[in-house]
Amino acid sequence: MQTVIEQERGRFDQQRRRTYQIAGSLGVLMVALDVVKQSLDHIQPLSVRLIYIANDLFLIAVSLLVIWMVTTRRGRLTTVERLMFMVFAAESLLFNGIVPPLLLGQTLELRWEQTVNDDIWFLLMICTLGFHLFHHRTSVMIVTGLYGLSVVILGGQILFSLPHEPVELGLYSLQVYGMGAIFLCFIYIVSRYRAQSQQLQIEYKLMEEWAFVDMLTGLANRRRCEQELQEAIARHQRYGEPFTICLWDIDHFKQINDTYGHEGGDQVLRQLARLARNTIRSTDVVGRWGGEEFFLLLPCVHLAEAEQLADRLRHHIMGQTVISDRVVTASFGLAEYHPSDDQASMLARADAALYEAKSAGRNRVVGAGFASVLV
Ligand code: GH3
Ligand code: MG
Ligand code: MG
Repeated sequence: MQTVIEQERGRFDQQRRRTYQIAGSLGVLMVALDVVKQSLDHIQPLSVRLIYIANDLFLIAVSLLVIWMVTTRRGRLTTVERLMFMVFAAESLLFNGIVPPLLLGQTLELRWEQTVNDDIWFLLMICTLGFHLFHHRTSVMIVTGLYGLSVVILGGQILFSLPHEPVELGLYSLQVYGMGAIFLCFIYIVSRYRAQSQQLQIEYKLMEEWAFVDMLTGLANRRRCEQELQEAIARHQRYGEPFTICLWDIDHFKQINDTYGHEGGDQVLRQLARLARNTIRSTDVVGRWGGEEFFLLLPCVHLAEAEQLADRLRHHIMGQTVISDRVVTASFGLAEYHPSDDQASMLARADAALYEAKSAGRNRVVGAGFASVLV
């Protein structure tokens, strides 16, 4: 039941791509604003402003690259995300933490201004991405490490500034980081809750699907076949859409079991199921009715055309060596829906046609109502 998981994953992937496109574009806009701000700033020396602008341009380039990759679907999404996480995390630690105080002589006042305008938001964004990218224990370790390091760097800056600068400006920044940590705890809870509910949703859908699948062959089971038949009857009553059903049964299957054992018999069932699935159209239904008996539902198909399809399948089965060098054959009974039919009468007609095919010597196709035999 790979399909359910793939469908869910596909939907989630699409949401993520769209989010990165929107958030990335907004990010580019914000950083571009910072470039303008740095250009207009006449308080800081030009060399400092140029370093900030270079960093901004680097961020814009990375964001544009990410937008391009998620839009053109270059590389796996998780790889792009991890790359983005690592680049932004390193940039945040280096450029928001280490470089400004050490190389640019940033004061606590500037630090405070930058914290509330920019740094804390960026850091919270990266940490939120971290919760989503890694498994929960790893994500807690990575986010705590990254966030903790940022706080330690800030603490270091405050300590080193102690004799010369008003310490409360540094403490303001620390306070914001403290609120950020509380915010991250909530983000963590929400992301865990979301992951769990998504997992439950997938499991529920899987269970729902498995309830209608035959475990041995992977085909629709009898319950599903009956449901499809009911729906086809309803479609006929509403839109007058014709359809034909077919019950087909492997000939002398008991002998196959006796010769090759139950496992050999199971192998034949699986192979014939695959063959049938590959022969029919995607809109047709093929299911396991029970034991070595199968069911086909052919929408928009009258009896004559259905007989041809069944005969094609019969030839395919005969022409295929499914076990050792034994030729396996099957008999087919068909019934086209008639307005006087209900589910039971239609199945009874198809079953009677199958019985007729068996009695007439097996390995043949019989349509209910008029015993046409194709060999
Ligand atoms: P006919 O040509 O008249 O259909 O003869 P047959 O031997 O195919 O039919 P019969 O109904 O006498 O035997 C069907 C056998 O299918 C009996 C049963 O043990 C076997 N069977 C039913 N379900 C399974 C299964 O899941 N696996 C295997 N290996 N055998 C099964
Ligand atoms: Mg049989
Ligand atoms: Mg049978």
